[in-house]
Amino acid sequence: MSITGTASFDSARSSAPFRVRIAGLARTTSMRALRGALPQACTLCAARCGDALVCADCAAALPYLPPACPVCALPTAGAQLCGACVAKTPPFAATVAPLVYAFPVDRLMQDLKYRGRLALADWAAAVLAAATLDFTRAVNGFVHDRIAFIRNC
Ligand SMILES: [Zn+2]
Ligand SMILES: [Zn+2]
Repeated sequence: MSITGTASFDSARSSAPFRVRIAGLARTTSMRALRGALPQACTLCAARCGDALVCADCAAALPYLPPACPVCALPTAGAQLCGACVAKTPPFAATVAPLVYAFPVDRLMQDLKYRGRLALADWAAAVLAAATLDFTRAVNGFVHDRIAFIRNC
């Protein structure tokens, strides 16, 4: 492969994510503007909720996952590894599951998946992103503590 060919390949490759990011930013900005301009009703209780799809009261009442096994996300006391993961390590390292698949989360996901309520994808992505960020912070804190422990030894 020539240097010119490599350069054009690299520039085309690096500009595509930028275009995708710009398109995503424009879409997000326009969606926020539309949601801000049009009155929003909570998907669950129909109360006014600004630019959110689920009001704060309904969001607080959602069935969040209790302390769970960090590998498989099954509820455990004190968020310890569950017996199944201790007995046989699964082929994945961790699971992030912010909500229990129960009412009303199951209805929201079915509305998104089978009834074409694509706006719920933004809400679900935001909930998952927040849980992933919390998980990442916990992992970073654990790694930081382990590094500090190793350095002190
Ligand atoms: Zn509500
Ligand atoms: Zn487990």
